[in-house]
Amino acid sequence: MFIEFKDVAKQKMTATRKRYFGRVPDVFTKMYQFTRAKTARALGYYPYFPNIEKSDATEVFIDGQKKIMLGSNNYLGLTTHPKVIEAGVKALRKYGSGLTGSRFLNGNITLHTELEEKLAKFVNKENALVFSSGFGVNLGVISAVADQKDYVFSDEFNHASIVDGIRFSGAIKRKFKHNDMKDLEYHLASADPNRARFIATDGVFSMEGDIAKLDVITTLAKKYHARVMVDDAHALGVLGPKGDGTAAHFGVTKEVDLIMGTFSKSLGSLGGFIAGEEAIIDYLKHHTRTMIFTASLPPSNVASVIAALEITENEPDRRVKLMENSDYMRSNLKSMGYNIGESTTPIIPIIIGKDIKTFYMWKDLLAAGVYTNPIVSPATPPGRSLLRTSYMATHTREQLDFCLEMFDKIGHQRRVLV
Ligand code: PMP
Repeated sequence: MFIEFKDVAKQKMTATRKRYFGRVPDVFTKMYQFTRAKTARALGYYPYFPNIEKSDATEVFIDGQKKIMLGSNNYLGLTTHPKVIEAGVKALRKYGSGLTGSRFLNGNITLHTELEEKLAKFVNKENALVFSSGFGVNLGVISAVADQKDYVFSDEFNHASIVDGIRFSGAIKRKFKHNDMKDLEYHLASADPNRARFIATDGVFSMEGDIAKLDVITTLAKKYHARVMVDDAHALGVLGPKGDGTAAHFGVTKEVDLIMGTFSKSLGSLGGFIAGEEAIIDYLKHHTRTMIFTASLPPSNVASVIAALEITENEPDRRVKLMENSDYMRSNLKSMGYNIGESTTPIIPIIIGKDIKTFYMWKDLLAAGVYTNPIVSPATPPGRSLLRTSYMATHTREQLDFCLEMFDKIGHQRRVLV
């Protein structure tokens, strides 16, 4: 099968090259040679772009079959909350479907400003700036903060948007070993004292659900005169006394210079923000290309996020339930014998190791009605392939028990459990 696809691709490539380019190399060559996805589809092990037909957050339908959703980032289950939906509908009626322009010139409405004020207050910073995506926050902010003269110290497991933000900035990158504070200190101590330093880290790491040691990071930052930014995509609504994130969890909000968050996880929508000192946010407002040169979030989106933020603040029981559900799954998966890493959050990895075994498990679980995400290199280190599972405040005990039963059965069938 694999050979067949390769041959077809090769023929197609040769024909195209001859037709258009003669002996000149063709930038499309790598695309014609890309056969991994086709092979996986043909073998029935292609896990990407699943067509979800219907969703009520904890349950989704694929090919008419119900699956329990253990693969979302909808931690508080707010995507279907009546107040979130109502707020979106109301704003859609009032302002229309979109703003057709950048916030900078023609796409800024009072809702954006209202959301920024609420976010700044929520994470306890002077001001905040809303972007149309979380990815855009990291890309835009890091490249506006650092340039070729500066260092950026980055955890090796940081999200791709941080990695790309550093690339985009042109700064000198120092990658430290995952959550290894000795390694971070080594890099800080050996840095050129004439260059400025910026440390960027995920708060909760997106694949394995462990927490950055922000208490130590901020202490090292002070010692070595570095600024700190934390990406709280997976911590907002989850960690901290009010769901206010990793810095609040460790009590180091003052020591963290910039707090980044997304609306695409606990807040159940799309977009992101950066929060910090007034002067810094004002600079970013006028220098972040990914905010200035892109259209603003549509009104319905912003209104839903405002409603979701209010619910996060007013219904703390959701966070309690989220942690109860996560702890319940963690202790049961562990006692079954799964390797679940160091997670203490609603993201629980089931570390399997080999890619192929991970895909077998993913497929069997899906067929049995449990939706997980198979994660392989480069999203994890080679040899550390895993099923990423994540939990919601709104999962019922019955749903979770069903999933546990399937994890036990399929884990034994596939000999991941012995
Ligand atoms: N940071 C982290 C840690 C993430 O996991 C993600 C999304 N998976 C992002 C940033 C990007 O956020 P968004 O999807 O809102 O663009």
